[in-house]
Amino acid sequence: MVYLDRILKACESVGIATRTIDVPGEDAVSQERELGAAILRLNEDPEVAGIIVQLPLPAGVPLRTVVDAIDPMKDIDGLHPLNAGLLRLGYEGFVPATAHAAMEMLKRSGIAVEGADAVVIGRSPVVGMPVAFMLTMANATVTVCHSKTRDLADKTRTADIVVVAAGRPGLVAGGMLKPGAVVIDVGINLVDGHVVGDVDFASARDVAGAITPVPGGIGPLTNALLLAHLIRAAQRQTGGASGGSR
Ligand code: NAP
Repeated sequence: MVYLDRILKACESVGIATRTIDVPGEDAVSQERELGAAILRLNEDPEVAGIIVQLPLPAGVPLRTVVDAIDPMKDIDGLHPLNAGLLRLGYEGFVPATAHAAMEMLKRSGIAVEGADAVVIGRSPVVGMPVAFMLTMANATVTVCHSKTRDLADKTRTADIVVVAAGRPGLVAGGMLKPGAVVIDVGINLVDGHVVGDVDFASARDVAGAITPVPGGIGPLTNALLLAHLIRAAQRQTGGASGGSR
């Protein structure tokens, strides 16, 4: 709900009409059916330019069948296999807004990505893998870490850029970083009623050359880029522009 409220407010602030659909269903089978049917109705609705599915899905509802149902032209968070494939091949399409935000943060901050050693912690299709692909396309040398990675600190300590998207508060602390490293904290975790990232900001800020805070870092940029994707989707559907999300 943290994401959804902020996305709805961001849309409202720029005059974009939104529709929130709570999908009914008593069990995973009926929820999957209802969710699929709702997405198909939105695909066919000419007044709807973009669709996002709020994750995580209810237990037992497979992500695959849900994202497959979204019209790739309305898939503004880049989850449909067509858009994921376009990203993988380096072609233009819709990319996940959070991954786009991580790259945009580096770009707008003047961080040199080409030739940099980058570590991405997390390999989800929504954040970790798209970021890893985009960093690779931008000529970084990328190591992807995950829950089975042995000695995470050994990997992060040599990285020029560390992107953390694990959903584990305090996973990365200052002692795990190379002095001057750039740290992008994608994590959003609720701890004792407070939103925190995956990085221990207090220790990391003294070592890092640049670091994104949580809240206030990647989250707001993600929402802004989601709206930019939506506008591009609307333009493409009305023949106003041919570009994708990058
Ligand atoms: P996810 O699907 O749960 O994936 C988490 C990834 O982290 C997995 O690849 C997992 O490894 C890895 N991981 C978990 N524990 C680890 C550990 N101890 N060491 C190393 N890797 C570990 O989560 P997600 O959807 O990618 O989201 C990640 C975080 O980003 C969450 O906090 C989420 O709330 C946040 N998020 C933020 C935004 C935003 O706009 N800022 C948007 C989306 C998500 P395995 O693959 O081995 O399980």
